[in-house]
Amino acid sequence: MPYQPPIPASYTAMDPVETADRIRAHKKRFGRRLVILGHHYQQDDVLQFADFTGDSLKLSQIAAEQEGAEFVLFCGVHFMAESADILTDDSVKVILPDLSAGCSMADMAAIDQVEEAWDFLTAATPEKIVPITYVNSAASVKAFCGAHDGACCTSGNARMVLEWAFRQGEKVLFLPDQHLGRNTAYAMGISLADMALYDPHEPDGGLTAGEVVAAKVVLWKGHCSVHQLFTPAQCDEIRARDPECRILVHPECDWAVVEKADLAGSTEYILRAVEGSPPQARWAIGTEVHLVERLAAQHPDKTVRSLAPMQCLCTTMYRISPPHVLWSLDRLAAGEVVNRISVDPRTKRLALIALDRMLANVSPEPATAK
Ligand code: SF4
Repeated sequence: MPYQPPIPASYTAMDPVETADRIRAHKKRFGRRLVILGHHYQQDDVLQFADFTGDSLKLSQIAAEQEGAEFVLFCGVHFMAESADILTDDSVKVILPDLSAGCSMADMAAIDQVEEAWDFLTAATPEKIVPITYVNSAASVKAFCGAHDGACCTSGNARMVLEWAFRQGEKVLFLPDQHLGRNTAYAMGISLADMALYDPHEPDGGLTAGEVVAAKVVLWKGHCSVHQLFTPAQCDEIRARDPECRILVHPECDWAVVEKADLAGSTEYILRAVEGSPPQARWAIGTEVHLVERLAAQHPDKTVRSLAPMQCLCTTMYRISPPHVLWSLDRLAAGEVVNRISVDPRTKRLALIALDRMLANVSPEPATAK
């Protein structure tokens, strides 16, 4: 993860009202030349400045549609800013207000590890392996999939992409989230016994050639440090305490949690499920806490709470703060583009192939229910 030098102390010491006023003044001055994007998991103190909110891919697609945009300030994490750079015109400069806002899951699959794994897996079996990467991955990993007849997927369309992959080959390598891969493959009828787990920190991923031959899906041993915090015991505890409460979790949660939940789906699915539920509905939700708290505030007629008793927040995304946003915009106004996230042309081209294969093989309204 790139190093973020401390911003001047005057920014962190500034009164929050002054910080907000100055950010709004910048937005007015830049007008359409500046687009601020805020991910669903972002804190409200930052989200208040966003022109658009959404998940990572949707935000990048929105950025690409903005006529006259010269600068995209992405209040998300590193891989999201990379995706925005991949999808926007070359003239658009994408800025991440704090370079230390990375993603623990994306960082669990470095491109050299993926290449090493590919060499081992393809030598172990003569069958065709199709690499699929969750969009929560580095641009280099997306490009790898683009270069090896693979594709990207989101949590909302993973099933459709896996179905496409099994029309292209006999096996799938699913990167970097083992849980999304396992939950999706299981929902498609693939047994746990037909899945193998590749650990990039073990020689040959901790697998024998025979285990690779036997597997239909090879899962990369990566996970989201936020969704990993939800447990089956929390589901049992909610059921015992509040039998009417429905449990709704993100498919980045462990398989055992998804099994115990009433529903599992992407962030968009979670939003739609709560919005579409009747007044007085009761929900325990297994996803990032800022999203859950915002849903609770937006639906005072319903009970919406986190599945976990502790705060499950994306600590890296949380590093982006109003002072960092203001600092980036002050530098921009002074003619200096700080913290630009730029993907090299070859990686961009190959990553786009993986993204385009995904988009060509999914319906516009993906089914995300468990
Ligand atoms: S919530 Fe998890 S997957 Fe999403 S950005 Fe944070 S660490 Fe990465």
